[in-house]
Amino acid sequence: MRVLVVSDIHANYTAFEAVLDNAGDFEALWCLGDIVGYGPDPNACVELLSEQKNLVCVPGNHDIAAMGQMPTEAFNGDARLSMLWQQRVLSASSMDFLNTLQQVIEPHETVTLAHGSPRDPIWEYMINTLTARVNFLEFKTDFCFVGHTHVPSIFWYEEETDRVLLDIPNAGEPIELQGRVILNPGSVGQPRDRDPRAAYAIFDTETKIWEPHRVEYDIKSVQARIREANLPERHALRLEEGW
Ligand code: ZN
Repeated sequence: MRVLVVSDIHANYTAFEAVLDNAGDFEALWCLGDIVGYGPDPNACVELLSEQKNLVCVPGNHDIAAMGQMPTEAFNGDARLSMLWQQRVLSASSMDFLNTLQQVIEPHETVTLAHGSPRDPIWEYMINTLTARVNFLEFKTDFCFVGHTHVPSIFWYEEETDRVLLDIPNAGEPIELQGRVILNPGSVGQPRDRDPRAAYAIFDTETKIWEPHRVEYDIKSVQARIREANLPERHALRLEEGW
């Protein structure tokens, strides 16, 4: 089964559309959360996502906060302003969709999905090998896919040495997974690795090949909608620089 793996769409419809166009045929879509937050198109993103066939999706911290299930004080200044806006504009049907999501899911016998980490799916950032190491104890499948950091990354568990190694994948270079691995496809709607192109991955459940991808999209049109909605300027600027 050819699976499109996306994370952190962050209400950026233009980036999400570009990913769907670029991904080719896929049989299932797995989404790692933060569908809303920051960007100007929360309802359009939820709608487009919910139309996808064989969709499996976990919620992120922004999704939970947008539903009012978390104090907005948990977010810093600009993120908080944008969150209050998301709460105001989120439709009842978007709310219903987000409300059905479970925090940790095994969509396949080899894969676990969580937004932050399997240990703390809503808040923990998988940013270094130390965090990854403890998290290998928190899921049973060979692979765990996470988002939340907005940085494409691969953590390999090396059994002989009981160590974890971190790789930053190159877009367009497929990787054959072996042993136990934690993977992050990067962010569709707000990449933070200084590459402003939307990030995603294709995972083949039979060959266990993970293909990291990047695709350009019309950043200016998203910035224009951010400014029209009076959302923080910082969230418009960061899109063109990828931070
Ligand atoms: Zn996020």
